[in-house]
Parts: sequence; C-alpha cells; structure tokens
Amino acid sequence: MAFRIGYGYDVHQLAEGEEFWLGGLKVPHTHGAVGHSDADVLLHVICDALLGSLALRDIGFHFPDTDPQYKGVDSKKLLQHTYDLVTEAGWKLGNLDCTVCLERPKLSPHIDAMRQCIAGLLGVELNQISIKATTTEKLGFVGLEEGVSAHAVVLIEQIP
Ligand code: MG
Repeated sequence: MAFRIGYGYDVHQLAEGEEFWLGGLKVPHTHGAVGHSDADVLLHVICDALLGSLALRDIGFHFPDTDPQYKGVDSKKLLQHTYDLVTEAGWKLGNLDCTVCLERPKLSPHIDAMRQCIAGLLGVELNQISIKATTTEKLGFVGLEEGVSAHAVVLIEQIP
C-alpha cells in the first residue's frame, strides 16, 4: 500500500469580541481569532496538511484571502473541498494528529466534540482524528494571548 504524509502550520491573531471558531466549533471565550475566513486555525492546518500530502500547494493558493467569496467563509467548507481533492486523486485519510497552542481557554472540554465534527466532515472514524492542546507556558505570542497557532500531520493511504 502506498502512503504519503503532510504537515500544516498556521497562526491567527486573537482579538476581544471576535467569535472563536476552532475545530469547526464556536468556543466560548472573551477573545476570538481574526481572519478573512472564520479564522479556524485548526481546520486550516488540517487543510494544509492534506494539501501538503499530495504536494497541492497550500490553503492560500486554493482559497485566497484576497477573494471576496471567502470573506467570513465557514472553514468546514474549505476542509470538505480540500478532502474532496484528496479522494478525487485516489487517496484517503489514514490518520490525522494535531496540536493547538493556546494559553486560554482550556480546550480539554471541547476536544472530543471537535474530533467528532472533523471525523464527520471527512467521513472517517473518530480514532483516526487526534487533537491535542498545549499552552506555551506564557511565552511568546501564544503565551501573551495575542494569538493562537496549530500544527497538523496527516498520513494518507492510496485507495486500492
Ligand atoms: Mg489560517
């Protein structure tokens, strides 16, 4: 069986009063992520990891932030479109492992709902989707609560 891997990294600024979309869910918080789309940093890194796995450039190439049609767009739509590119090319997800770097709020109560949301969007099993969270011990832009970052790694398998 053929396999490929992909990696994604993304950052969004946090600002008071913005909605905080993360992993396809709206997380209750005083601050939210700022961006041209809904600024869902977790779904963005998953898109980038999937695109990277097939050397299909990056999320900004497919969904430019200069294009008004993506203003405020639900990143779930971007992820579904991205995964369509993967399956149309004859591949499917093996597994996905992500880390969100965020000082506050604690994500633990939301992780399983995010996993379910992403597994549902991709049509895969829950145990194929891993989401982890870490603070950066009050260091750097994440620690200062100026922003949120995320990383994702995917393994994809060629459909026999
Ligand atoms: Mg982004």
